[in-house]
Amino acid sequence: MSFLRTSALQDLLNRPASSSLAEPQKTSEYFGTNVFGRDAMREYLAEEAFNAVQNAITYGTQIDRGVADLVAAGMKAWALAKGASHYTHWFQPLTGATAEKHDAFFTPLDGGKAIEKFEGGQLVQQEPDASSFPNGGIRNTFEARGYTAWDPTSPAFIINATLCIPTIFVSYTGEALDYKTPLLNAHAALDKAAVEVCQYFDKNVTKVVATLGWEQEYFLIDLGFYYARPDLMMTGRTLFGDSPAKGQQLEDHYFGSIPDRVAGFMQDLETESWKLGIPVKTRHNEVAPGQFELAPVFEEMNLAIDHNQLLMDLMEKIARRHHLKVLLHEKPFAGVNGSGKHNNWSMATNTGKNLLSPGKTPKTNLQFLTFFINTIAAVHNHADLLRAAIASAGNDHRLGANEAPPAIISVFLGTQLSGVLDDIEKKVKDGKMTPEAKTDVKLNIGKIPQIILDNTDRNRTSPFAFTGNKFEFRAVGSSANCSASMMVLNTIVANQLIQFKKDVDSLMAKKKYDKDEAILHVLRDYIVATKAIRFEGNGYGDEWVKEAKKRGLSNHKTTPPALDAYVSKESKKLFTSLGIISERELEARFEISLEQYVKAINIESLVIEDLALNQILPAALSYQSDLLNNASGLLDVFGPSKGKTLAAAQLQLIEKMANHINAAKTNIDAMVKEREKTDKLADAHKQAAAYCDKVKPYFEAIRENIDALESVVEDSLWPLPKYREMLFLR
Ligand code: ADP
Ligand code: MG
Repeated sequence: MSFLRTSALQDLLNRPASSSLAEPQKTSEYFGTNVFGRDAMREYLAEEAFNAVQNAITYGTQIDRGVADLVAAGMKAWALAKGASHYTHWFQPLTGATAEKHDAFFTPLDGGKAIEKFEGGQLVQQEPDASSFPNGGIRNTFEARGYTAWDPTSPAFIINATLCIPTIFVSYTGEALDYKTPLLNAHAALDKAAVEVCQYFDKNVTKVVATLGWEQEYFLIDLGFYYARPDLMMTGRTLFGDSPAKGQQLEDHYFGSIPDRVAGFMQDLETESWKLGIPVKTRHNEVAPGQFELAPVFEEMNLAIDHNQLLMDLMEKIARRHHLKVLLHEKPFAGVNGSGKHNNWSMATNTGKNLLSPGKTPKTNLQFLTFFINTIAAVHNHADLLRAAIASAGNDHRLGANEAPPAIISVFLGTQLSGVLDDIEKKVKDGKMTPEAKTDVKLNIGKIPQIILDNTDRNRTSPFAFTGNKFEFRAVGSSANCSASMMVLNTIVANQLIQFKKDVDSLMAKKKYDKDEAILHVLRDYIVATKAIRFEGNGYGDEWVKEAKKRGLSNHKTTPPALDAYVSKESKKLFTSLGIISERELEARFEISLEQYVKAINIESLVIEDLALNQILPAALSYQSDLLNNASGLLDVFGPSKGKTLAAAQLQLIEKMANHINAAKTNIDAMVKEREKTDKLADAHKQAAAYCDKVKPYFEAIRENIDALESVVEDSLWPLPKYREMLFLR
């Protein structure tokens, strides 16, 4: 048996039984202890500094340099009291991971002494040597400077004795090089647009934030297996692997009892998350064997995203303590479900109202309908942008497979709310409404809360579903930074709300409608204009693909064509008019996404070639030689006629294997040829398309033959851990 596979299995058998779960401790006693949050600030900051930070959080006001010195002093005192020795700016470059560069607090003094130093300047801004982060051509290598700048709206925290300060990351010329910068801009645009619309209903609303509750799916496998699978190590997914006899077809894993070893990991992860103020709340087994999910209580969006990024990092570290490997890839195993990250999204006001939660009166329900219908209209008008925001090589395996939302963006409302919209469409007629008609419509709107309480229909196949008091964007990939999709969602809803305000004001001015009537008319127009995006049926079915085509909805199954929406004329206008991101930044992001796609498929192709030629085909050939020896032995001993009869099974196997070996090799050669051609293309767009349409199709053809060999080659000769070994955690 191959050395790696043997040692991975041996290691698993020798491991002591999983340690029992830790002693229970009250979470409330240590929740947020490693965060420089409100309580810590109150203790360590002078009133002036405390108020400045609170104002920055609530109103986005600037913190001047003098106050930053005070905040830095307080932060340093708190961090040192907690045993921190280093500090770092913590940021989210376009690699998808988080980045940090640690500096020690201590500064040497004359005479061999040292002091701990950390001042406003170091808090507010740093200049990491950033030349090797993706920048899509924004930063020339000779002008490699980029700087990080403090985001006071997300609190600093301590991990591994290091004070981490959330920051944005921009080029020296001010262009965004990260996920956070455009997210904050989009969030601010949404705040402004939503507050203006709220003024129609409630003058007390002065601030609106987007709220996000993400649900993170992931796989866990034994760390030993991970190291014995070069494909998992290099690409995050298995490029070969025959499906086990028992996969997820028995559906016994979903919500089943959590294995002890996994529960130990989860508990450890939760404890660490709680110390960092990440409000993780729910955990359960997912549908596929070895697959799990965890979800927090929702938070203000920027914080929620930082927490998700932090959590993904923690998962990795804590899994190692349990000799486990977390797989965040969207499709680590073929034939079983992949992983997503549902983004539950809504908007909340400073008055404590969830804008997507129906109220108790017709007036608050009209407000609910306003935000509800505007969100639907935003998705309708910019579905392609939402699709672009979730595009990645990994997510391509999920979208459109019969397990995850389709690549066609549509919105699910539920029969009841669909009925309410249909009712408005029918009853709000052109021209002035009669008092009776108005009362009738309002009466129906007033019934919404009861309706939703009885609303039990849940459509799991929709990419964008209304779930009672929030929308759930389900097509986001499990490894993604939520910022990419949430930046787009906030932007398109902000843009839509601005349009709505214009439309309502102009109707009121032109036609002398009262406010409610104008709102109803505009909403009715939006309902009619955006009907194509509403779909209540089965999103996994083939009929939907046909129907969507008829409706003119896009269906970009792969990343390269999906990404085009980022740089369309409309997108450029949308993002620049709202000041979210410049044309150059958009082009750069487009370029980076294409590059990432090319790299992902290129690496997969190299690993397929390497694994097949160096490990798998040699194992198959070696077994084939055994069979050949055996068969020729039989022929020698029994003579050609009887020998042939006796060696029938061997001869059949030899032939079958020879066919698969030849087919695999032929496809590998063809793939390599295509890849070499593709690598010569200079244009990133053409290269991504060629990787997608010319190189990648060989993967399946090669895999089919290799997986067929796996099912016949003697088990002890097979070099890679098998699905049945990896997927069922013991
Ligand atoms: P599911 O049935 O999909 O598991 P849950 O009710 O458990 O739904 O909620 C899933 C996520 O949605 C949780 O993270 C939850 O905190 C979040 N959520 C609930 N209300 C809101 C809201 N108003 N805005 C954003 N997220 C929310
Ligand atoms: Mg959900």
